[in-house]
Amino acid sequence: MVQLSEAAIRDVVTEVLSKIQNGNPAPTGAPNVQSKPGRHGVFDSAADAAKAAQGGFEQLKKAGWEGRSKVVEIVKTMCFDNAERWGRIEFEETRIGRLDHKIGKLHGIRNVLGTEYLVPHGMSGDAGITMEESAPWGVIGAITPVTHSVPTIAGNIVNMVAAGNAIVVNPHPGGAACAALAVHEFNEAIAAETGIRNLICTIEKPTLDSFNELCAAPEVALLCITGGPAVVDAAMKTGKRAICAGPGNPPVVVDDCHALDFDKVARDIIFGGGFDNNLLCIGEKQIIAVGDSYTKTLDALKRQGAVILTKAQTEAIKKEVFDVKDGGGGCSHAVLNRAYVGADPAKLAAIAGLSIDSKTEMLIAETEEDDLFVEEEQMMPLLPIVRAGCFRDAVRIAKDSEHNYRHSAMVHSMNVANLTMMGREMDTTLYVKNGACTAGLGMGGEGYISFSIATTTGEGITTPRTFTRFRRCTLVDQLNIV
Ligand code: NAD
Repeated sequence: MVQLSEAAIRDVVTEVLSKIQNGNPAPTGAPNVQSKPGRHGVFDSAADAAKAAQGGFEQLKKAGWEGRSKVVEIVKTMCFDNAERWGRIEFEETRIGRLDHKIGKLHGIRNVLGTEYLVPHGMSGDAGITMEESAPWGVIGAITPVTHSVPTIAGNIVNMVAAGNAIVVNPHPGGAACAALAVHEFNEAIAAETGIRNLICTIEKPTLDSFNELCAAPEVALLCITGGPAVVDAAMKTGKRAICAGPGNPPVVVDDCHALDFDKVARDIIFGGGFDNNLLCIGEKQIIAVGDSYTKTLDALKRQGAVILTKAQTEAIKKEVFDVKDGGGGCSHAVLNRAYVGADPAKLAAIAGLSIDSKTEMLIAETEEDDLFVEEEQMMPLLPIVRAGCFRDAVRIAKDSEHNYRHSAMVHSMNVANLTMMGREMDTTLYVKNGACTAGLGMGGEGYISFSIATTTGEGITTPRTFTRFRRCTLVDQLNIV
């Protein structure tokens, strides 16, 4: 009979407990890094999460294309089935945006591209056969925004796992609890169906330190950043390759065209700019109306339920939602009061002592082009409208207000030359003509969706291919069959 030492018995007990806790045995070769007790993929430390995700990546490699497709299917189905519960939990944690739209965003995960997008490219000729394939990076560090915490994580998972990668998320602290819950439930389901553990990891209490630790982890081969200017700057300084889905401030230009249906224009602007109380990075943030279209647009916005603010009301709200700081030397800069980001229109109107119908989706402020509401990415359901003398002038104002983020722009016009001219001038990643901004992500327009639009680094609306390394394999000589 074999005698076990006390230490050996302890090891066996630890291993059995870990198997019970995680539901499935760890495949051989996976690092023995544990997530928090009872929490699949949820970690205190970014370094541990990266090590565990490396194990997840190696397990996924063994599971092959079938494993990737299975995980994609699990994540899409779970987002759809849990949309109401997760949407409500995210809404209650973040207290920003609109519950119905949080649910809608989770339903939208069905339209994120998966494995089907990774088609290899083959070449065959007298010299033999060459295949070009999209290979995974390994572990990807993903930074996600508070504006769409679970949808961004879910969309990233679909794209990244389809491409064969594992993920560690450092979510925004304001949306970290709903992120941990979704990651835990994803992993639990993935482990039950495929046996793969820790494919998706998250930091339970993310901080700037955990961001730095994640970026420095040797297992993390690539970063995917979705957020504002500060995090994009920080990621670019890490020395790691970073795919950056950065900030925007999308203008919408309304042309002076008799043929335009101004009520449709107004509905599009209210829907796009009002979606989730204007939390979308692609959302209409300022309206620039040419000539007579100014009054026509304003009247149509009113007919479609928007509330037009007086000058005094606009100024009262501006004073509360922006903190203008003295930068010295006669310079000043505005800091957004985060308490009003994604706030309901009624909450914003109340600042000015205005009581409005709780169903109101949009406030409109008549402003000049250099107004703070035009210049700042305010992410509130309050759109400034600016008058332009001609279409060219409107495009100039639009371009200035977009700050060369090259993110998104919208236009309503029946003049083909104007539509083309603005598209060329703006040079944005998304350019939507005669529709709401959401049409650019396949909602009301053709195409697919992603919650990470890599504007700063130029990869565009992310797909599985964004998260792959391009590899070529050449077989020399006449082994082709024709
Ligand atoms: P945010 O920049 O405050 O935070 C985004 C993420 O970065 C969070 O996880 C946050 O914790 C982290 N972060 C912020 N500053 C950091 C720093 N200095 N170092 C390390 N990490 C840091 O943005 P938010 O309010 O969560 O989201 C809104 C912003 O994100 C807007 O600017 C919006 O345009 C942008 N966004 C872009 C896309 C896109 O696809 N391009 C999608 C969604 C949101």
